[in-house]
Amino acid sequence: MRDNLPDSINPWTLAKHGARLQGQLPRAKLRRLPDYVCALRSEPHIDWRFGIDREGQAYISGQIEAQVSVICQRCLQPCELSLGADVRLGIVVSEAAVERLAPGYEPLIATAEFVLADAVEDELLLLLPVFPHHPEGGCQMPPVSQPAEVVEIESRRPFEELRALWQRDQSESS
Ligand SMILES: [Zn+2]
Repeated sequence: MRDNLPDSINPWTLAKHGARLQGQLPRAKLRRLPDYVCALRSEPHIDWRFGIDREGQAYISGQIEAQVSVICQRCLQPCELSLGADVRLGIVVSEAAVERLAPGYEPLIATAEFVLADAVEDELLLLLPVFPHHPEGGCQMPPVSQPAEVVEIESRRPFEELRALWQRDQSESS
């Protein structure tokens, strides 16, 4: 267990040692996620355990979570989203090996070391909804132009009356 996540990992070695990676991924390490969200509210947090199951399959199992802001596709205002999921990755060396992966595992193809942030971002991008929106009733609709309330306007217009008086005076004095 460690708080400072390494930049790159060899999942095979970690699986062999039954390692656990727990911590926050600094936002500076993220290269793709910022293009898909309007703000990152919290740095992605992972708690991943590595191991080898009874069938000899190397795996990563744990959780991933992050808070992001995206643009609501209904009201076009920022909308906060909590991304979170259980991760269950079967580590394989090739596309061909993906076919033999036991059900319940998502494939993670890795022959050796890889950049941890890449794998974290892959998982988070999968969690982003295609059509993000506020929960029902939560949209901040822009003010809709409703027909102005019909108001009885007082018919007296004191200044017009004054002007009328003034004009009359002018015409009388000329
Ligand atoms: Zn909305």
